[in-house]
Amino acid sequence: MAYRFLIIGAGFSGSVLANKLINGLDCSIEIWDERNHIGGNCHTERDAETGIMVHQYGPHIFNTDKKEIWDYVNSFVEFRPYVHRVKAMSGDRVYPLPVNLSTINQFFNRTFTPAEAREQLENVADKSITDPQNFEEQALRFIGKDLYKAFFYGYTKKQWGCEPTELPASILKRIPVRFNYDDNYHNNLYTGIPVEGYTAVMQKMIDHPAIKVSLGKKFIPGESSDHFDHVFYTGPIDAYFNYRHGRLGYRTVTFEQHSAEGDYQGLAQMNYCDEEVPYTRIVEHKYFTPWEQHDKTIYVKEFSKETTEDDIPYYPKRLSADKQMLQSYREAATSLKGVSFLGRLATYRYMDMHHVIGEAMDFVGRYITALKENTSIPVFPNEEQF
Ligand SMILES: Cc1cc2nc3c(=O)[nH]c(=O)nc-3n(C[C@H](O)[C@H](O)[C@H](O)COP(=O)(O)OP(=O)(O)OC[C@H]3O[C@@H](n4cnc5c(N)ncnc54)[C@H](O)[C@@H]3O)c2cc1C
Repeated sequence: MAYRFLIIGAGFSGSVLANKLINGLDCSIEIWDERNHIGGNCHTERDAETGIMVHQYGPHIFNTDKKEIWDYVNSFVEFRPYVHRVKAMSGDRVYPLPVNLSTINQFFNRTFTPAEAREQLENVADKSITDPQNFEEQALRFIGKDLYKAFFYGYTKKQWGCEPTELPASILKRIPVRFNYDDNYHNNLYTGIPVEGYTAVMQKMIDHPAIKVSLGKKFIPGESSDHFDHVFYTGPIDAYFNYRHGRLGYRTVTFEQHSAEGDYQGLAQMNYCDEEVPYTRIVEHKYFTPWEQHDKTIYVKEFSKETTEDDIPYYPKRLSADKQMLQSYREAATSLKGVSFLGRLATYRYMDMHHVIGEAMDFVGRYITALKENTSIPVFPNEEQF
């Protein structure tokens, strides 16, 4: 018997689910997405005027330590190596990020060795804080007031819309400081960018005669999904239950796109650490394809704000009230039959692309095993694994 599946969402979660299901089972699949394009938040599109590939919902760099995931995405399209280097504007000066030996030397106007830089930070750290209770205390404890104010305070306040003292210390699990000159933003084994953008990767994943994609089609739970054997839902979990326990907290981003002749800022990403500057960062998209030549440029200012009903949810806040609410939704989800919840929105976690891809790959394996062995169908991914 051929199974009939419905997948909600044509982002990486939905696309990998479709690709793995179609290759693992005798089935037909419908994918619905309420947007007018596939790709979810990783959608890329060439700007009609300049030909520059624009990451429409913010910059995306693919990075993973897992060879299986890297080989999988590379089996669809060509990825080229890409090293992400970020600078920070603090006051009227530009520093390398993450904070590294070069940043520390520039900041203190010294030429420390790694050991001396470590000692310097120990000297300026606030040792009176023994058990940090919030983000600010966590930062002060390790890097002291001046570095914290210069690189973390204003940026964090803009990003999360509150005082860093209101944020849990766990957000800053490890202070991103390096005592060498390494300014590569990612330290994963595999880092790259697909030559023709991310939407092309997903297009290849779902290119199959038994997969039908419907765009501009919103899924309303309880309506029109009866004739499918199973629904894989990658939208927001609170929306699935019509917000019956309330709305999970997210920050969102608004984008202000500009074009100009030549270069605008000389690199892909400049963070703005000062509270007075209203945007958090400026992203210049042609730097994501260093193998292309463009006379013009496109740069995008990003503004962070609270998510309202009409906004796209971006960064889950995961405050303790959110986590309690999430628990109620998870319980409601587990009591349903014939629906599974995957991806960043349905599990309410910040997840990189390789996380959602890895979880979807793993999930289809578990789903097929459950079908074959007639055991209970998994509702959520195995979140411990990634
Ligand atoms: C600003 C920003 C920068 C990022 N940068 C990176 C990066 O550099 N590297 C990295 O690895 N990751 C990055 N990420 C994370 C990356 O965007 C996610 O991992 C990825 O988009 C998750 O894919 P997904 O399919 O789970 O969700 P999404 O991409 O959000 O896809 C979900 C889809 O479901 C659709 N949908 C929802 N509800 C419904 C409904 N009721 N009916 C129909 N359709 C529906 C939506 O329209 C959407 O297309 C970044 C995220 C953000 C916010």
